[in-house]
Amino acid sequence: MNSSMISKIEKSKRYEREPDRIKFQALAVTFTGENDVHQVSLQDGAWHCNCGYFPHTGICSHVMALQGLLGAMLTPDARYGPPPAALPAMDDTAQSFAAGVG
Ligand SMILES: [Zn+2]
Repeated sequence: MNSSMISKIEKSKRYEREPDRIKFQALAVTFTGENDVHQVSLQDGAWHCNCGYFPHTGICSHVMALQGLLGAMLTPDARYGPPPAALPAMDDTAQSFAAGVG
């Protein structure tokens, strides 16, 4: 292996430890929930999930889980979602996620 390739590999390993360099612009996943498999997507900072809860609130446990997993690799809009005032009353778990604590 030549030195150029070795330096690229070393740089990639450093990048792997610096996830805030990466921002997802779009994403599409299947999410195996407890009751069903859901289609979750992110486009231009807006999430969508085909579960029954999401259309009523614009947020759901599947999106919140991805927000927690991807963290620094999401733009602020995608990471925190709509402002809390736009959401209906949340339970303690949802509030922890919204505050970035969870
Ligand atoms: Zn969902």
